[in-house]
Amino acid sequence: MSTDPLVTTQGLGKIFGKGAQRVIALDKIDLSLWGGEMTLLMGPSGSGKSSMIAALGGLQKPDTGSVTALGQNLWKQGGGKINKFRREHCGFVFQTVGLFPALCALDQIALPLNYLGQSMGAARKQARIVLDEVGLGERYYSRPNEMSGGENQRVAIARMLAKDPKLIFCDEPTSALDGKNGAIVAELLKKAARAHDAMILCVTHDDRLRPYADRVLQIEDGRIISDTREEETGT
Ligand code: ADP
Ligand code: MG
Repeated sequence: MSTDPLVTTQGLGKIFGKGAQRVIALDKIDLSLWGGEMTLLMGPSGSGKSSMIAALGGLQKPDTGSVTALGQNLWKQGGGKINKFRREHCGFVFQTVGLFPALCALDQIALPLNYLGQSMGAARKQARIVLDEVGLGERYYSRPNEMSGGENQRVAIARMLAKDPKLIFCDEPTSALDGKNGAIVAELLKKAARAHDAMILCVTHDDRLRPYADRVLQIEDGRIISDTREEETGT
């Protein structure tokens, strides 16, 4: 664990609606997240999990408080700078994988890198490195319909890792997977946090992910009601 947090929030607040419809999605949250750690964010539907990811990942402006991310006061910057910050430093993994049906695994990763300005040669080289990292070294040329759900989620994770983001946000990354593939993905994410010295904030309802977490946050009504560190599992 590095000493300075990668992300710190102070008094982070988000409110939706007015009058009787008013909902406090985030209730003045103070939180720090460190590199090299995978943190689970657990809580009932409507408790503020997505609002939290949106505020930390530069997706939706909070109403009060601040987010300091990689030393920058995120929401004090203009929209263009926030978009650039998100593009360069944030990675997202969702339940639905969002791969291009016609592309092989290598090109799922290499084409976006090429689009962002890397030469195709360098992009393919980087794609091989991250596919190897997620254990898909044999699958460079497979298309989504030739792979399992778990393998496709690993391609999506490799694509996310390709630009070496320091802030990684996952929303239910294992909920479409069976237990075995869920465990593979969870272990992979934990290892990626270590290898990239990145922080991973992972929204999940899946208790099976707990053994892979460094830390578990419980959120209810926009408040963190518990913050626990897991015992070392030796993995
Ligand atoms: P979770 O991801 O834990 O299910 P959310 O962060 O999506 O929770 O939502 C927190 C609360 O804010 C909920 O009560 C939800 O209904 C409300 N909310 C979220 N987004 C909006 C929106 N765009 N408009 C109105 N209310 C919203
Ligand atoms: Mg949600």
